[in-house]
Amino acid sequence: RVVVVGSFNVDHVWQCDALPRPGETRIGQYRTGPGGKGFNQATACARSGAATVFVCALGEDEGANLARSLAAADGIDLRTEPSEEPTGTAGIYVDREGRNSIVIGAGANGALTPDFVARQGEAIVGSRIVLAQLESPVDSVLEAMRLARSAGVRTVLNPAPANAESSRELLAVADILTPNESEFAALLARHSGERIDAAEVAAADEARLHRLCRVLLPRGTVVITLGAAGAFVSHREDKCRGDELPYYRVPAYEVAVVDTTGAGDAFNGALATSLALGGERVFADHVRFASHYAALSTEHEGAAEAMPRLPSSRPA
Ligand code: ADP
Repeated sequence: RVVVVGSFNVDHVWQCDALPRPGETRIGQYRTGPGGKGFNQATACARSGAATVFVCALGEDEGANLARSLAAADGIDLRTEPSEEPTGTAGIYVDREGRNSIVIGAGANGALTPDFVARQGEAIVGSRIVLAQLESPVDSVLEAMRLARSAGVRTVLNPAPANAESSRELLAVADILTPNESEFAALLARHSGERIDAAEVAAADEARLHRLCRVLLPRGTVVITLGAAGAFVSHREDKCRGDELPYYRVPAYEVAVVDTTGAGDAFNGALATSLALGGERVFADHVRFASHYAALSTEHEGAAEAMPRLPSSRPA
C-alpha cells in the first residue's frame, strides 16, 4: 500500500492566444477538472497498480463531491479532514505555446492539520511507501514522514512547487527526494551554500550534480526529473547494493507528446507504486517504470485525468 498526503484542487483552465497582461481582458476556451499535486499523484499510484490511501483536507462544497466520486472510481481510499475553508482551487491560463500562468487558492489544503495526519497513523505505519509534496502545510507533511520513518516505512518527498515553504528538518526525513530542475535549484539555494542555475541542471556534469545532491540530501537518494531529458539519480555511496552505481541517468521514453502537464506527478505516483510493489528490482528499474508511466501520461491532455490505467490497476 502507498499513502499519499497532499492537495486536491479543482482546476479552472482557460486556453487563450496569449496570457493576459495586467489590466487586460482576454477571451479563452474554458474547461474544469480535478488537480492538485497530491490528488494527481494518488491517481497515478492507483492507476499504475498500488492500493492507495489519499490523505487530504476538503471543504463542504461541490469540489469535495468531485474528489469523492473520482477517488471512488479509481478505488482510492480517501481520508479527508473536513474544513470550513473552500476546497482548493487553481486558476490556470494556458497560451498557444503551452506556457501557463497559475494562481492557487490553497483553501482547505492549507488547513490540513498534523493532528488529522496523526490519526491516519495506522494506515501510514501499515504501508510500504509514504509520498508527499509541498502543497500542504510543512508540519503536516513532517508528521506523516516522521510516523513513516518510525515504522521503517520508506518516504518519498516531491518538493513541489519550487517556491513552496520547506525546511532542513523535512528534508532530513526524506529517504527519496524527487525535485525537477527548478525545484532542485531552489532547494539547493535555500538549504545549502551551493548554487546551480535551473537551466544548467539538465546538461550539468554528472559528477558535479552528484556532489550537489549529496550536499542537499546526505542520507538519502535524489532523483532529479529533467522533462524530455529523463532523470538523474544520486545515491548515498555506502548504500549502493552490488554493482549499483552511485549516480546515473535514466533516459525518457520517446512518445508523441500532447500535454506534459502532470508528468512529474505521474512519475512520482508510479515511482511510489513500483517501490511499494518491490520485488527484486534495483532502484534504476523503479525509475525506468516511473519514466515509462510519465511518458504515457503526456500522450493525453490534463493532469489526473491523463494518468494511464495499467492492466494491473484495480478500479473499484
Ligand atoms: P515536472 O512536470 O514536475 O516539471 P518533468 O517535466 O521533469 O516534471 O517530467 C517528469 C518526468 O516525466 C520526466 O523525468 C520524464 O520521465 C517524463 N517526461 C516529461 N516530459 C517528457 C517528454 N516530453 N517525453 C517523454 N517523457 C517525458
